[in-house]
Amino acid sequence: MKISGLQKVSLVDFDGHISATIFTRGCNFACPYCHNSRLVKGIDDIIPENEVLEYLEKRKNVLDSVVISGGEPTLNPDLPAFIKEIKDMGYKIKLDTNGTNLSMLKNLIENQLIDYVAMDIKNSIEKYNTTTNTNTHWNIKDTIEYIMNCGIDYEFRTTLIKQYHTREDITKIAELIKGAKKLFLQKFVDNENCLQSGLDPIDKDTAEQFASILRKNIYNTYLRGY
Ligand code: SF4
Repeated sequence: MKISGLQKVSLVDFDGHISATIFTRGCNFACPYCHNSRLVKGIDDIIPENEVLEYLEKRKNVLDSVVISGGEPTLNPDLPAFIKEIKDMGYKIKLDTNGTNLSMLKNLIENQLIDYVAMDIKNSIEKYNTTTNTNTHWNIKDTIEYIMNCGIDYEFRTTLIKQYHTREDITKIAELIKGAKKLFLQKFVDNENCLQSGLDPIDKDTAEQFASILRKNIYNTYLRGY
């Protein structure tokens, strides 16, 4: 596992849980608004896997869960084996993913290795490449459908950027994930760790209007960070 970050205690990364959060290195997207540019570029040192596992073993009576975030965790082929070691300590697992590795996700869910999945919905399908700064065809629709029917708890989340998200895109996202259990519209906060500077958040009034559009198809649509 390529791990480049460990937040030892978090009360906000997994609702209702006291977690540790592990940040894996590397991503197949390069979202200009990404806050984890150092992880995406692979600048930070690798933290040895055994150090992370030793910490989790020691804290298993205090923490109840582990969030695996990134970067994109599913790029690590040894992710299932790594999670199995953590699960065997009694932890619940939340996975943050961009949804590009459906076969890995299926492997994790079918082997009961994760308890909750949070998938980013970057934009309407037409604008996926622009929003992620990539030029590959991503099979996001199949991952969405799988998550919505796989039986484990999940959320979708979209970080709203003025330069990327229009009302039309939001209407298309509402169709794309129609009937989903939960969607969070997250406020973008610019900082020095972003991959690109000069991007703007969407204001609260507009975000509320977007949420109203989305609630017609996704009843539990919430703003996060506003
Ligand atoms: S926002 Fe997420 S998916 Fe996008 S580049 Fe950053 S880590 Fe990768």
